[in-house]
Amino acid sequence: MRVKNKPWAKDKLAEYPQYVVNEPEIWKGRWQERFGKEQPLHIEVGTGKGQFIYQMAKANPEINYIGIEIETSVIVTALEKLIEEELPNLQLLRVDGRDLTEYFNDAEVDLVYLNFSDPWPKTRHAKRRLTYKTFLATYEKILVPNGEIHFKTDNQGLFEYSLASFSQYGMIINQVWLDLHNSNFEGNIKTEYEEKFSTKGFRINRVEAYFPS
Ligand code: SAM
Repeated sequence: MRVKNKPWAKDKLAEYPQYVVNEPEIWKGRWQERFGKEQPLHIEVGTGKGQFIYQMAKANPEINYIGIEIETSVIVTALEKLIEEELPNLQLLRVDGRDLTEYFNDAEVDLVYLNFSDPWPKTRHAKRRLTYKTFLATYEKILVPNGEIHFKTDNQGLFEYSLASFSQYGMIINQVWLDLHNSNFEGNIKTEYEEKFSTKGFRINRVEAYFPS
């Protein structure tokens, strides 16, 4: 994904420590203290500008959410949403998803969302895909036993790769949607990329899979 550089974004993130976690390692094992209430914790890795996680947090006040994004210039847009309308159950974290075991204890997370992850179509870049086996090992460690991944993408190649990756890792695939927007799935909350690509006529795929304990 090409990212427009916003040189002011880093300072802006630092100005709002109540919404953006500055020193994530000190919250390891204590994430619930960042929220108004102790309740299930769901994270999105590669949250982008935060439309999905913000709307999810608004719609589900009984769940705590963390939006995780590597790019400062992108996550700052998610912060702007929170500045405009605060949500007690949403926190933002600017880190690389590959390092999540440094920031979360074993079994600290109840569910991982991956939405429209960068496809990295070249085989030599496969290790960067958020559904590559090393990322799956990271999610498995921080997730509760039988913890789930919910993944959406318009990208057929990445979807097929991810189904195979989940299966080869030993995950159980619960349910698959090959055309989410023309299915009986209720309560779908669209991401920025989902809006963009479904408007262009791309079918949206979705899978729910879990790590058996
Ligand atoms: N989920 C959003 C959506 O559906 O609109 C954004 C999708 S965008 C194609 C993928 C996002 O994942 C980008 O913002 C990118 O910076 C982020 N990303 C890629 N690799 C990442 C990693 N290792 N850790 C955290 N975020 C990552």
